[in-house]
Amino acid sequence: MCLFCKIVNKEIPSNPVHESDDFLAFHDINPKAPVHILVIPKIHVDSFNEVTPETMAKMTPFIKEVAEKAGIKTSGYRVITNVGEDGGQEVKHLHFHVLGGAPLKWGHFADADPKDFL
Ligand code: 5GP
Ligand code: ZN
Repeated sequence: MCLFCKIVNKEIPSNPVHESDDFLAFHDINPKAPVHILVIPKIHVDSFNEVTPETMAKMTPFIKEVAEKAGIKTSGYRVITNVGEDGGQEVKHLHFHVLGGAPLKWGHFADADPKDFL
């Protein structure tokens, strides 16, 4: 069973923010912003590549509820999902990072300079 399935099953503790029948949101153990929450489906999905449109449709309002509960819906936030090797996905259970609580930088995502690939 993967790490995030163990969190869903409460075999590994987490600090939950919000929960529904289908999804769980909990604080990232190594936050990269004042607010850094992970949103996952309770059923195991490897990554964004495998997620169904039906799950995504339900996840959209859930993520907005998470932003509301975390107090960042109005101030703004970022939603990210890393996919696969080049995307830097470390945990192979679909998760959306919800980051906010301060103005977020953008440039540090461009580790690979596109000019190097022309
Ligand atoms: P990825 O790199 O796969 O997109 O993101 C995985 C995230 O999971 C990282 O931000 C990391 O800090 C977080 N993480 C890894 N292990 C745990 C854990 O046991 N508990 C929590 N709450 N977060 C974790
Ligand atoms: Zn899993």
